[in-house]
Amino acid sequence: MDRTDFLKLMAVLPLTEATMKLKELNKITETFNSTEKMPVLFLGHGSPMNAIEENEFVKGFRQVGKTIPKPAAILCVSAHWETKGTFVTAMEKPNTIHDFGGFPKALFDVQYPAPGDPELAKETKKIIKKTDVGLDQNWGLDHGAWSVIKHLYPAADVPVIQMSLDYTQTPQYHYELAKELSSLRDKGVLIIGSGNMVHNLRMIAWDKLHESGFGFDWAIEASEKMKKYILDGDYQQLIDYKSQGRAFDLAIPSPDHYLPLLYTLALKNENEKISLFNDKPVAGSLTMTSLKIEAA
Ligand code: ZN
Repeated sequence: MDRTDFLKLMAVLPLTEATMKLKELNKITETFNSTEKMPVLFLGHGSPMNAIEENEFVKGFRQVGKTIPKPAAILCVSAHWETKGTFVTAMEKPNTIHDFGGFPKALFDVQYPAPGDPELAKETKKIIKKTDVGLDQNWGLDHGAWSVIKHLYPAADVPVIQMSLDYTQTPQYHYELAKELSSLRDKGVLIIGSGNMVHNLRMIAWDKLHESGFGFDWAIEASEKMKKYILDGDYQQLIDYKSQGRAFDLAIPSPDHYLPLLYTLALKNENEKISLFNDKPVAGSLTMTSLKIEAA
């Protein structure tokens, strides 16, 4: 509804209803202005089936969504968008991308029609100095983004943009790049890193797929170490994950699902706290561990 339509509507509405509409409008403005600093999330997305299944993890996503002020927009760094160089999606209406195979039709039928936010894409390009961020018109929302965001905002009424992972860069580079996103938190933007801290698809225990809580020894060892570094604020150890030994090597066979964690941690300020949720291994070689960073 544009302003003229809104005024026309106001003119024909009975007074009480008009007052209610005005209140609603004020509420929206309030949400935008009163946001001090949006929390930051890392979401362990796990299997794409989490998009349509009911389980303890999707309950965790829903629950965390309720503890956060409604964002003006979301910027999601998903494990599933790797590019040479850094891009942000800049289209008005991002498509729902079904970037997986071998799943039931019901999963391919899912649409998540959240609008894009070309202005936020331009703003993101402007504030990042480390590289020339490209404005992308071709991607959309991959399942790293929509399979989890749909549980937080089922009405798809919060605009979403994605930022890609530059596969040519080092973990240290990603960590520093992420810091440049910080000012978006003051503008009501919810930044979400979506991946999995421990993620080794080749070692999945297929017979334990539906048994939540099962992790191989190395997966639990890596997970415990990661959590200790996270809670101690020792992020350099996490950035240097390649020199952490065998358990980390098995937990992070490729950086895609791990790097979104570094994006999330880079945005934590000194006076903020981190809480963990969905903190469980699944299928032996994955962890769903997720975290929220917010004012202490
Ligand atoms: Zn994934």
